[in-house]
Amino acid sequence: MKDIELINKLKSVISQFDRGETPQKQDIVLLLENYKNPEIFEFAKELGRKKALENYGNNVFIRGLIEVSSFCTRNCFYCGLRCGNKEAQRYRLSFEEIMSCCESGYKAGFRTFVMQGGEDPFFDDDFVCRTVAAIKQKYPDCAVTLSLGERSYISYKRLKEAGADRYLLRHETATKEHYEKLHPKNSLFENRMECLYNLKELGYQTGAGFMVGSPWQTMENIANDIIFLKEFKPHMVGIGPFLPHSQTPFKDFPKGSAELTLFVLSIVRIMLPKVLLPATTALGTREEGGRERGILHGANVIMPNLSPVEVRKKYMLYDNKLSSGAEASEGLEILRKSLDKIGYKIPVSRGDCLEIN
Ligand code: SAH
Ligand code: SF4
Repeated sequence: MKDIELINKLKSVISQFDRGETPQKQDIVLLLENYKNPEIFEFAKELGRKKALENYGNNVFIRGLIEVSSFCTRNCFYCGLRCGNKEAQRYRLSFEEIMSCCESGYKAGFRTFVMQGGEDPFFDDDFVCRTVAAIKQKYPDCAVTLSLGERSYISYKRLKEAGADRYLLRHETATKEHYEKLHPKNSLFENRMECLYNLKELGYQTGAGFMVGSPWQTMENIANDIIFLKEFKPHMVGIGPFLPHSQTPFKDFPKGSAELTLFVLSIVRIMLPKVLLPATTALGTREEGGRERGILHGANVIMPNLSPVEVRKKYMLYDNKLSSGAEASEGLEILRKSLDKIGYKIPVSRGDCLEIN
C-alpha cells in the first residue's frame, strides 16, 4: 500500500470507531502497528480530545486513592505486591486510618474515594461493609469506589448494598493464552471475566482495563482488549504502561511505551466517548508530564494518592511508583496549576459516568 493509501485506510478505521462500529480485528491490528505514524497519532489525539471535551467539557475529575493494604494472597507475575515477594513491605490501614484519609480528602475537595488494595483476607465483607457504610454516612455527597480484586458474587452484592458505587477490576488482557502467561495457574481468566460481568449486573459503575506493553503482549492482544471493551461497555477503563518491579519474575522485561499508551487512550475515548478514562499514575511515572499528555489524548480522570504518607512507599506495584508532588492529594495545587496550563480544571464533583447506552 502506498503511504497515502495507508493513511486514508487507517483514518477510516478510526472513523469507524467514531461512528460506533467495530472495525475488523485485522484492521485494528494494522492501526496499532502504525501508531508511530505522526499523522495517525495526531489524528487520534485530536479526535480523542474533541470527544472528551464534547462529553465532559474541560473537566478533569479527581479521585482520592486510598491504598488500604499491601498484603495480597495472589501471585500475579508483574506485581510487586505478589505474595511470592518476600521482600515487600506489608501494611494494612485500620478503619480509623481510612476514615481519617477521607476526612482530609473531603477538605481538599475530593468527592470520590477509592479503596484499593491487594487481596487481603483481613478485608472481609464485614470490615469493608462497615467502612463503606461509614464513609457514605459521613459524606453522603461522595462516591465510594472499591478495587479489592476478585470476590464472590455474594460478596460484591453485600458491598454494593453497604453503599459502594463503583468497582475497578482490570481485565488485564482479554486473550486467555496471554492471561495465563501473566498469572500463575490458580488465577483463572474465566473467573476474572465472570467477576466483571457480576459487578456490572449488580449495578456497579464498573471499570475494566489493562497494561500496555506487558510481557509477550502483541498488537493482536491489544486489538482483543479493544474489542472486549467495546462489547463489555465498562463505565471506566484503566490503561497504563507495564512497568517492571525488581522483585518480580518480570523484572528484566522492558517498560511499556508511553506513546502507545497515549494512542490506545485516544482510541478508547473515540470508541467509548462517555467512558471515565484515567491518566494513570503509571503513565505519569513512565514519563514526566505523562498524565497531562494523557488528558490531551482524551483521558478525563486523575487519581491522586490519599494514603497516609508513611505507607506510600510500601505500596509498590512497580519500581519508582510516584506518590508525591502532583501525584499526592497534598499536591493538588500543583496538579491544578499544571492542568490549568493546558486549559483544564478540577471540579468539586463526584464525576459520575454519563449514561453509556
Ligand atoms: N489487587 C487489585 C487492585 C490492586 S492492583 C487487583 O489486582 O485488581 C491494581 C492494578 O495495578 C492491576 O490491575 C494492574 O493492572 C496494575 N499493576 C500491577 N502491577 C503493575 C506493573 N508492574 N506495572 C503496571 N501496572 C501494574
Ligand atoms: Fe495482588 Fe492485585 Fe498485585 Fe495481583 S495485581 S498481586 S491481585 S495486588
